Amino acid sequence: MREFVHETRPVRVVLRAGAAGAATPQEAQHLGLRRLLVVSGPRGAETARAVADALGDACVGVHAEARMHVPAEVAERAVDVARSLGADGCVAVGGGSAIGLGKMIALRTGLTLIAVPSTYSGSEMTPVWGLTENGAKRTGRDPSVLPRSVVYDPELTLSLPVGLTVTSGINAVAHAAEALYAPDVSPLIALTAEEGVRAMTGALPELVADPEDPDARGRALYGAWLCGAALGATTMGLHHKLCHVLGGTFGLPHADTHTVVLPYALAHNAPAAPEAMAALGRALDTEDVPGALWDLARRLGAPRSLAELGLKEADLAVAAGEATSRTYPNPRPVTTEGVLDVLRTAHRGDRPHTKY
Ligand code: NAD
Repeated sequence: MREFVHETRPVRVVLRAGAAGAATPQEAQHLGLRRLLVVSGPRGAETARAVADALGDACVGVHAEARMHVPAEVAERAVDVARSLGADGCVAVGGGSAIGLGKMIALRTGLTLIAVPSTYSGSEMTPVWGLTENGAKRTGRDPSVLPRSVVYDPELTLSLPVGLTVTSGINAVAHAAEALYAPDVSPLIALTAEEGVRAMTGALPELVADPEDPDARGRALYGAWLCGAALGATTMGLHHKLCHVLGGTFGLPHADTHTVVLPYALAHNAPAAPEAMAALGRALDTEDVPGALWDLARRLGAPRSLAELGLKEADLAVAAGEATSRTYPNPRPVTTEGVLDVLRTAHRGDRPHTKY
């Protein structure tokens, strides 16, 4: 018998073509919100304004100033805007950066958040917030930042460039992969994670062939939802820690870094995580999960190595030191030598060799 604790959180999820404009006002009404501030990044401003138009009188403003990793001054300004407009809720339209800004508004003001995601980052399904101050990114968990409604609209993702489609999709796969060996995974989350990987890795090759295939876009968002739910319910291990360090300290791009590191982090952990590897093997139809993910990323034209992302060989030891400076759960004990080995192979970008 597998013992577990499973918590269900109050989130409504809508997935439908055209839902950004059609369902967001309904979700606002359902939550009793009448004065919503819509936030987005500068590139998502047009979509944010379309959502604002659909909200009509229930929208008090659009604030299109979200930036990657939520800089403290950006968060402060957005909180001021929300307060000065007397907002009673916030709609975050965009990728993890826009949703991250919405989460900081929710954390500081207690406002209810609705998320309308346009990437596969999964942030909309987690109670985790992030804030960058004095060059360092802090994260925390607080149930108040979890969106109460999530509106997935495949039409919003038709414009997602192929490169970001692939890396954002593999970012989602990374959430599910680490959830599968997390100490707090429940049987329901294990099923969710496995199905999330199956849906996402099935959709990605179709999207590289035809980025505007509405059905594949829908299946990718479905996968992102499941992978995000798995992320939100569990504690992440070595892979996420490494990517956090590489993004935070060395400024490497978020989704690209996840894509490059994942096969190597999994190759390292595989011998200590047989159940997770079996689930991932079923989802990917393979007996060599790290190798299959490496092959998939290459077939889809993703970046190949940390060197390609601009990381210098001299940075590897610093990154390994940071990634081992605090403890966190991981199926294999985290040692500086082990982490350095993962980083060295990811820096070179060779196909991972695993026996498990
Ligand atoms: P992002 O939100 O920064 O978006 C990347 C780029 O893509 C931006 O320039 C954006 O304008 C553009 N973009 C987004 N959607 C688009 C679309 N549909 N069409 C065209 N362009 C589009 O990147 P991301 O990968 O979604 O999110 C990364 C951030 O989210 C990081 O800061 C990461 O730490 C955070 N994150 C947080 C959690 C969490 O649980 N708190 C989970 C995952 C990611």
